[in-house]
Amino acid sequence: MPVLVMKFGGTSVATLDRIKRAAKRVGVEVAKGYDVIVIVSAMSGETNKLVGFVGETSPMYDAREYDAVVSSGENVTAGLMALTLQEMNVPARSWQGWQVPVRTTDAHSNARIEEIPTDNITAKFGEGMRVAVVAGFQGVSDEGRITTLGRGGSDTTAVAFAAAFEAERCDIYTDVDGVYTTDPRVTDKARKLDKIAFEEMLELASLGAKVLQTRSVELAMRYKVRLRVLSSFEEQSDEAGTLVCAEEEIMESNVVAGVAFSREEAKMTLISVADRPGIAASIFGPLADAGVNVDMIVQNISEEGRTDMTFSCPIDQVARAEKAMADAKAAGDINFHDLLADQEVAKVSIVGIGMRSHAGIAAKMFKTLQDEGVNIKVIATSEIKVSVLIDRKYMELAVQALHDAFGLEKTT
Ligand code: ASP
Ligand code: MG
Repeated sequence: MPVLVMKFGGTSVATLDRIKRAAKRVGVEVAKGYDVIVIVSAMSGETNKLVGFVGETSPMYDAREYDAVVSSGENVTAGLMALTLQEMNVPARSWQGWQVPVRTTDAHSNARIEEIPTDNITAKFGEGMRVAVVAGFQGVSDEGRITTLGRGGSDTTAVAFAAAFEAERCDIYTDVDGVYTTDPRVTDKARKLDKIAFEEMLELASLGAKVLQTRSVELAMRYKVRLRVLSSFEEQSDEAGTLVCAEEEIMESNVVAGVAFSREEAKMTLISVADRPGIAASIFGPLADAGVNVDMIVQNISEEGRTDMTFSCPIDQVARAEKAMADAKAAGDINFHDLLADQEVAKVSIVGIGMRSHAGIAAKMFKTLQDEGVNIKVIATSEIKVSVLIDRKYMELAVQALHDAFGLEKTT
């Protein structure tokens, strides 16, 4: 029988009533003839509570025990979901990560899935079980210790199971009804997309659209897992939500699929660094070692052998970046006059696979911002994305203007 993976996020299993509602959705798919693998998150708020307990008990905690504690929320929902399905006369059984086993690296609190053997669950399907309920977010290391996959990791569990079992689709039930052209809180013209390409979703996910864990989208793209994001709070039809799929499946789309933004950016400028071979390596090496996620980079024209180097990073990493640069300077590895941190910036990006075949998209973006009187501080582009750093106070204005300019609004 064809396999379907259905993942329910924390808000979709927040109460026993909601678990019941989710179980009914599962029942509908079972009735259609699917063998279903259900991946569950912890009840909403539960993982945060457990993370808090760990921090209070042991500030410099042992990551193995952190995983032992924070993985437990999913165990509860997996068992409750299996019981709820059994009450509905749907043959169901729960699995914790180690029972499958979901084999992962030993990078505790941020492990990666290496292998999911299918024989165990497939055998049960063969015996008449119709639903395997699997605790998301967790696995087991070679040492036999429980691991977790990083916050939001149940999305990745779901996609990995869909890939391993060659599922027809992976449905991600959440508290939003799909992927939007931009955040509806910024403009009420934001429109739900019926389909979006993996590449676009990956850009939107990593740019701060928080619907899916970025790693889950990477995995879906690699294994061509069709992902559907949909709400567990609305009546469902087969066309509900947003399908994340290969671009070949999207007949016609806008050149720009969406406008993403991030408020939590900082712009850092090293003033007057010596312009010599290896200078970029001696700046960005120490930043990487310090765990600073550098995004945009601009090196200016040099004069008399000296140049300014600008980069952006998340705002909560500014102190780390400053320390890494100060240390490198003290060690004599780099030499600069000053390091300026502008913490009042935001990043706004337009994303779309159509940009590959259309000229003038960046120019149109810049003109739109000019018309609004918004000054651009840094620009970065990729094949399917143009990003700019601007003053944070203009972020909403810029998003709305770009959303209009690229015709993303609702048509009805
Ligand atoms: N419960 C975990 C978290 O809150 C994993 C997940 O829900 O995806 O991050
Ligand atoms: Mg989530």
